[in-house]
Amino acid sequence: MKHATPLRAATMLDPSSPAAFRESARALVDAEITPYLARWERQGTVTRSLFEAMGRAGVFGIGVPVDQGGLGLDLAHGIAFGRAVMREPAAGVCTSLSVLTHLVAPLLAGHGTPGQRDRWLRPILAGEAVASVALTEPGGGSDLVRSVAATARSEPDGWVLRGEKTFITNAPLADVLIVLARTTPGASALGLTLFLVPADLPGVVVTPLTTAGLHTSPTGRVSLEDCRLPREAVLGRPGLALALLAGILPQERLAIAAGALACARWALERTARLVGPTGQAMAELAWWDAELEAAETFVDVTVEQIGGADDQLDAALAKTASARLAQRVVQECARLSGPDAFRDDESAPGMLTVLRDVRVFSVYGGSCETVRDMAATEILRGARTTGQGPHHAQE
Ligand SMILES: Cc1cc2nc3c(=O)[nH]c(=O)nc-3n(C[C@H](O)[C@H](O)[C@H](O)COP(=O)(O)OP(=O)(O)OC[C@H]3O[C@@H](n4cnc5c(N)ncnc54)[C@H](O)[C@@H]3O)c2cc1C
Repeated sequence: MKHATPLRAATMLDPSSPAAFRESARALVDAEITPYLARWERQGTVTRSLFEAMGRAGVFGIGVPVDQGGLGLDLAHGIAFGRAVMREPAAGVCTSLSVLTHLVAPLLAGHGTPGQRDRWLRPILAGEAVASVALTEPGGGSDLVRSVAATARSEPDGWVLRGEKTFITNAPLADVLIVLARTTPGASALGLTLFLVPADLPGVVVTPLTTAGLHTSPTGRVSLEDCRLPREAVLGRPGLALALLAGILPQERLAIAAGALACARWALERTARLVGPTGQAMAELAWWDAELEAAETFVDVTVEQIGGADDQLDAALAKTASARLAQRVVQECARLSGPDAFRDDESAPGMLTVLRDVRVFSVYGGSCETVRDMAATEILRGARTTGQGPHHAQE
């Protein structure tokens, strides 16, 4: 008897257990990302269909409470989803999705008014709207207190926003941008405010940027030319932008750390298949495997302890160490792969894509050196509450 082919159920994330979640994440990636990756890489951008499919599956609501339309899961699930995406050399896709899952959705869920959540969070979770977080300016992005020159002037009926943002992920496709601007003159950390800016507001001009890597992730420059915003465009409270951002920074940095290591692991596994099971090359790969394993464990432990006293510091260290390690592993894998690393295969992204992409993990989320210097200052002043920091050494 001939059986009718069952209709394939729409692929959704399954929150019922960690194992079911990981399996559903892999199935979602296999169905909605892998088949399109090479095309997006050639086109230099993903399409809106990616956000629609991921929204329908629940990706942007992984960490959003259930009563706000999310899955109500912890950061470990968000990281597991990123790892499922990074089973392919898909750092650009992972970056574009991460902005929504780890930055936009938590900011709106945690600090949005009911009106803002209804207007923006609901469609973002459903995959009907795309969003960006616009902090970086031509003057810099790691040290925001010093570098933000965009201003929002208070007027009786609202705000007038003026400035330039650059290297903004998703900007060419965005419906809304979360923009950081100075609301009090001077260099005070309490002078910065976040605004929800519709991308079609008069005065908002987005120019796509061509980048050296992450070709699938649409990136843009945003000009804000006297944009008039209503009072209720403020996200959170005026002057408290850095406090809001500090609340999500560890999650973002841990997602970047995990992404960097996953990128390196892809390169390692590909190189292992290429060089075969014996010989000097495999011995070298075994060392890198051990280093990756240690770094992955550090990321996982920090993810588990998120919300603890040391999470800012540990996430900063995890981001910096993982990004630097990933770059070394990918470089070494490229060397061991010989000329094969330089083959540009149009049918599927490969080593060349990873070589281009891996550099970014040291840049975004705060450059490695800036993050390292901030972390070093914290360690030296004895800020760490656990472990073997300098204050323990003196006991
Ligand atoms: C692909 C991509 C996507 C991005 N997406 C976004 C986005 O969506 N939203 C957003 O707001 N921003 C985004 N950014 C911007 C990014 O976050 C910033 O570029 C990053 O924080 C670095 O900021 P910066 O320009 O201030 O560089 P800096 O931190 O000033 O670093 C510049 C250079 O100086 C080096 N350096 C700094 N300090 C030291 C030191 N003490 N010793 C030695 N060297 C040092 C760094 O290593 C780096 O090479 C993106 C960037 C890229 C490349």
